[in-house]
Amino acid sequence: MNIFSYHQATDAASAIALKQAGPAAKYLGGGTNLVDLMRETVEQPEALIDVTHLSGTIEERPDGSLLIGAGAKNTALAAHDAVRSHFPLLSRSILAGASAQIRNVATVGGNILQRTRCRYFYDNAARCNKRQAHAGCDAVDGFNRYHAILGTSEACVATHPSDMCVALVALDAVVHLQGPGGARSLPLRDLHRLPGTRPDVETELQPDELITAVEIPPLAFAQRSTYRKVRDRASYAFALVSVAAALDIDEAGVVKDVRLALGGVAHKPWRALKAEALLRGQTADAAGFRAAAEAELADAVGLRDNAFKIELAKRTIVAVLEELKGEHA
Ligand SMILES: Cc1cc2nc3c(=O)[nH]c(=O)nc-3n(C[C@H](O)[C@H](O)[C@H](O)COP(=O)(O)OP(=O)(O)OC[C@H]3O[C@@H](n4cnc5c(N)ncnc54)[C@H](O)[C@@H]3O)c2cc1C
Ligand code: SF4
Repeated sequence: MNIFSYHQATDAASAIALKQAGPAAKYLGGGTNLVDLMRETVEQPEALIDVTHLSGTIEERPDGSLLIGAGAKNTALAAHDAVRSHFPLLSRSILAGASAQIRNVATVGGNILQRTRCRYFYDNAARCNKRQAHAGCDAVDGFNRYHAILGTSEACVATHPSDMCVALVALDAVVHLQGPGGARSLPLRDLHRLPGTRPDVETELQPDELITAVEIPPLAFAQRSTYRKVRDRASYAFALVSVAAALDIDEAGVVKDVRLALGGVAHKPWRALKAEALLRGQTADAAGFRAAAEAELADAVGLRDNAFKIELAKRTIVAVLEELKGEHA
């Protein structure tokens, strides 16, 4: 690990000013990802700007929306009454990740910006376009069981590792940002990028921009929602495939509305818009669920070790929708 200085920000403005003062500074949340990367010398910041004292308030508004400070701990968000009762998929997605100890210190901002778990990214002896632009990618012909099947490029086949983000993307969450040029917001769905030719550019964040909060708009039918994570071990493992879904069915058994997102399959949390469009207005049955899953995965491409994920993703979508349909019975 290289030598670095440590600074504590008291608010967003001081965090941005501190970050701009040092040429190679990074924001520090709970440090559960960043410090690991520093230990492996994958990341070598000269200064850490601690943003854990920024707001971690979780506010339930009268219209049913939630405003979550970026400093909120993963544990607090998963345990919040409004999250558990109105957005159970979010609570379940967080609890499916990491361990209780890690969730106790990990922040919402840090969770969103955690970096891929591709083993070659962490190995300085391997070729990795994400670690070093245009260096090559050892995962394409290497061990790629955990890698992406949707939206990949020749340059990178890594996945985004966050469980929480999959639920947030399904819920149309919006991230609030503050940077040297002022404040702005954008849908979380548009924050992370597909790899293209520059997998080292992972998000649409501008230099020194800080995540200050995440907003979840009201969605009454999200009371019937869930998150299912398929993984190699029951705990402490990242998703092979995960599905976040909320389903609204009318009395005639027709899908009124649906939200669907996938994890473990792409460089970003994957909103399943094709499947959603097919499901709306259709009878909620196994054939319709399967047709929607087929459409969503139509462009999926498997690698040597991960082609099984294509069928796994389809079956997990169908299983989750069947489970939510059962809750309407
Ligand atoms: C053993 C282990 C198992 C894990 N398993 C899972 C799992 O199964 N599922 C899962 O989803 N996650 C898992 N994780 C990852 C864990 O969820 C993340 O490490 C954690 O959420 C990161 O949050 P943090 O606050 O510690 O971020 P940090 O490590 O502090 O920061 C991560 C990144 O975010 C940036 N950052 C932090 N806050 C802000 C902000 N407000 N604005 C802008 N940039 C910011 C930092 O600069 C850094 O680049 C696991 C981690 C470990 C160590
Ligand atoms: S898949 Fe992406 S992160 Fe992994 S080695 Fe290739 S370029 Fe690096």
